[in-house]
Amino acid sequence: RAKADGGSVAHGFEAAMDSWARSRRRRETDLHEAFARGDLALAFQPVVGVRSRAIVGFEALLRWHHPVEGAISPAEFVPLAEESGLIVPIGAWVLRQACAEASLWVDPVRVAVNLSPVQFRDPGLVATVREALALSGLAPHRLELEVTESVLLAASEANVATLHALRDLGVRIAMDDFGTGYCSLSYLQKFPFDKIKIDRSFVSQLGENAHSTAIVRAVIGLGASLGIVTVAEGVETEAQFAHLREEGCEEVQGYLFGRPAPAAQAGALIRRKPDLAA
Ligand code: C2E
Ligand code: MG
Ligand code: MG
Ligand code: MG
Repeated sequence: RAKADGGSVAHGFEAAMDSWARSRRRRETDLHEAFARGDLALAFQPVVGVRSRAIVGFEALLRWHHPVEGAISPAEFVPLAEESGLIVPIGAWVLRQACAEASLWVDPVRVAVNLSPVQFRDPGLVATVREALALSGLAPHRLELEVTESVLLAASEANVATLHALRDLGVRIAMDDFGTGYCSLSYLQKFPFDKIKIDRSFVSQLGENAHSTAIVRAVIGLGASLGIVTVAEGVETEAQFAHLREEGCEEVQGYLFGRPAPAAQAGALIRRKPDLAA
């Protein structure tokens, strides 16, 4: 009896795994088709200067509108794209698209693009970035590449070399989600980042949790002494903004200043160059 029960439990587990794997494969095929059909889009979220309260740039964020299921979060489909390797062509498209859009904005408004660690396994990454800049005519200093510390975790030597090669193009390199990893400080030693993005998990607790408040203060101080620009992610309230300004944080991003929006809406927020194609 016990054996039979165990068997049926195991069978149920296998069945569940099977259906999970099937739905995952289906989702992967869907993503592939969506990309081929042009159903992926970029949304742009403003990054604001703390002192000026003016837009200094936008972060490009991938969006997938599924015909049946509606909006699917990048937190869900980016890992899928990473596992299947699809993130390499998708990432190249993101770079081209983001640079093309930013080339229509008034200088010096910048665009930030997220890079997956999987893209660093692609020997063509530096060429892809160089091409996106050349095709769009965007000045390299207006492109910012965001990486998480996982880029420095795996194949660290090779990836550090790639980061240097990318920066030699004239682009800036930002460390995203700072503070959420295992050993963020050691990564600042491995590569001289231009920018640190303080993770939303700390910002959301600002003024409420003494530890988060102290950590944010320390990271801003660290940035200041290393000559690294600090950006706070996920700023939702005026109180959080006031805290960040007092601590000397330079840039902020969050729903308080604007949600990610389609390119046309983002472009309308800032002066665009006259349309030369017309
Ligand atoms: P991230 O790079 O840390 O992007 C910031 C995320 O925080 C975005 O989520 C943004 O919509 C969200 N956010 C911004 N302000 C606020 C706020 O005030 N409150 C709250 N609750 N959330 C806020 P999103 O767009 O869902 O993207 C999630 C993650 O997916 C990104 O985190 C990034 O790691 C990844 N991702 C997005 N686009 C790309 C891409 O083109 N390539 C790669 N490799 N990853 C991407
Ligand atoms: Mg980011
Ligand atoms: Mg982030
Ligand atoms: Mg994140």
